[in-house]
Amino acid sequence: MVNKITSLAEYFKKYQQSVADPDGFWGDIAETHFWRKKWDQALDWRFEGKDAPNVNWFVNGKLNITENIFERNMFMRKDQVAIIWEPNDPKEPEIKLTYGELFEKVKQFANGLKKLGVQKGDRVAIYLPMVPELAVAMLACARIGAIHSIVFAGFSATALADRVVDAEAKVVITSDGGFRGTKSIPLKAIVDDALQTCPSVEYTIVLKRTGEDINFNNEKDIWWHDLVDGLSSENVAEVMDAEDILFILYTSGSTGKPKGVVHTTGGYMVYTEYTFKNVFQYSDGDVYWCTADIGWVTGHSYIVYGPLLTGATSIMFEGVPTWPDAGRFWDIVDKYKVNQFYTAPTAIRALVAQGDEWVNGHDLSSLKVLGTVGEPINEEAWRWYHDLVGKGKCPIVDTWWQTETGGIMISPLAGITPTKPSLATLPLPGIQPILVDPEGNELKGNGVEGILCIKHPWPGMLRTTYGDHQRCFQTYFSAFPGLYLTGDGAKRDEEGYYRIIGRIDDVINVSGHRIGTAEVEDAINQHPKVVESAVVGYPHEIKGSGIYAYVICEDLSDTDLANIEAEIRATVTKFIGPIAKPDKIQIVSGLPKTRSGKIMRRILRKIGEGDATNLGDTSTLLDPGVVDEIIDGAKVEV
Ligand code: ATP
Ligand code: MG
Repeated sequence: MVNKITSLAEYFKKYQQSVADPDGFWGDIAETHFWRKKWDQALDWRFEGKDAPNVNWFVNGKLNITENIFERNMFMRKDQVAIIWEPNDPKEPEIKLTYGELFEKVKQFANGLKKLGVQKGDRVAIYLPMVPELAVAMLACARIGAIHSIVFAGFSATALADRVVDAEAKVVITSDGGFRGTKSIPLKAIVDDALQTCPSVEYTIVLKRTGEDINFNNEKDIWWHDLVDGLSSENVAEVMDAEDILFILYTSGSTGKPKGVVHTTGGYMVYTEYTFKNVFQYSDGDVYWCTADIGWVTGHSYIVYGPLLTGATSIMFEGVPTWPDAGRFWDIVDKYKVNQFYTAPTAIRALVAQGDEWVNGHDLSSLKVLGTVGEPINEEAWRWYHDLVGKGKCPIVDTWWQTETGGIMISPLAGITPTKPSLATLPLPGIQPILVDPEGNELKGNGVEGILCIKHPWPGMLRTTYGDHQRCFQTYFSAFPGLYLTGDGAKRDEEGYYRIIGRIDDVINVSGHRIGTAEVEDAINQHPKVVESAVVGYPHEIKGSGIYAYVICEDLSDTDLANIEAEIRATVTKFIGPIAKPDKIQIVSGLPKTRSGKIMRRILRKIGEGDATNLGDTSTLLDPGVVDEIIDGAKVEV
């Protein structure tokens, strides 16, 4: 396969080359794509100065990303399966769409959008469950040059409205409802509610999925099936500039108000294809499955764009890992003989808690590669994944990246880079990480820990935050002039491997010692009764910051309850040392999480500080009830 690295020596060689001559390195890769007009210059950039950041990849190049998914490969892939769709209910039949079939649907729906007056540059909000039409809708937007803004279909009406207003979307694409486990979610009703405050929206396209009754406004609402009925699938792709916007995607909101991250066409295309085939070591004929929702960047880059650009077979799953039972993931792996499996630590931890019996009894022998993304993976979960799911024979790619980075940045190449539990290992070719101290001084050499920044552009990086370029500069480029600030802290170990230790706000300074929350959580989780924990700092008179641990335990008896705090402290002392012992431990039944499963530590920090009066933007919170319970337990002011 073209541009696929096959050995560690080759990785090092490519890496050197990519640093010595980034333009030449990425230019060579881009040559293998289909361009309507070749670029004049591979890269023109500045992270500082007027209107910074200003990053242009493949300057004046013209292309359409869907021509690179479809036309470029059609002669060899027409009858190959592009998407396997596994429904929520295992009794419902699956759908397999070949590249040829998917192409027809994309072109036809593209014509439907055009019929509604959608033009190049218009924003289209997509609020759909994980059904094949979600992929069709996004690719149809790309086909005609409309900018998609996908909003995870688990978000509330307010969260949806915020995003639709910010992007000034002209059309919203949704469905009557969506299935998740035993639940049926009334998506159209949520959209109706949201659209009361969204004047830019002219039409709502409604896909029939659950068949439940909905309110239908004949002037503004159009059924998907009526829109495409009888429409031709003749469609010529819009010619896009390499730097025309492909999509907007709002971040998870773990640290504050979600940001409308903007990705453009040419660079994102080159970067997602390159990282997909290299990190997962995808080979022709493999079946690949990423369990993320397409509402997150992981789904954009590694269910749709990366795999389809590579010509892969990509599974899309509508349901949840625990329904009808906790063996569902492994049923699906077995059913389709999945070769590469990519999920999040939160899903792994949830399955660890359900017990090993759900994994055993499935034939998982097809698996070659396992991946994780989204949070640091604790060592216990890593071991479970490696030993039980991968039977000790599948490399784990712990992939560190962000909505803003467009694609994977630091990760092993599966089976090529030797791995270590909980380490994201080495930067991909083209990625130049740098660790700095809080004053911005570079921390050179190995065995150092600091703030993770990137010092040179890569093709998949964000170009701006939608409608507010100043915010982009402020958030990512102002702290350390000339560097992209990731917001994460990292350690570079003696071998030069990176370990992500969490967000910089999550590093606690205890009596002058910098302690990563992830590390303390890792230690606490070693206690056999602990299911999950979240650690934050709080103001402490003597130490500067104290350590506050919120801990979920399983079936505690009265004696356990009396002893658990002391035992947890002893566990932390054993694994890290007495300096990291939590000062306060609060046993809770749940933790505040975003809808993508990440812990919102900023809320726990506020509660830890004893002030629950202003918790900030909580629109992406999965279950607000959890917060009330924790506030009660912490006995703080509200
Ligand atoms: P917001 O930026 O709105 O606060 P968010 O950072 O959670 O939300 P995402 O872009 O979805 O939004 O997540 C990126 C972050 O997830 C990274 O900055 C990092 O903190 C964490 N992360 C992702 N992958 C890994 C990984 N493999 N190891 C450790 N942390 C990871
Ligand atoms: Mg972030």
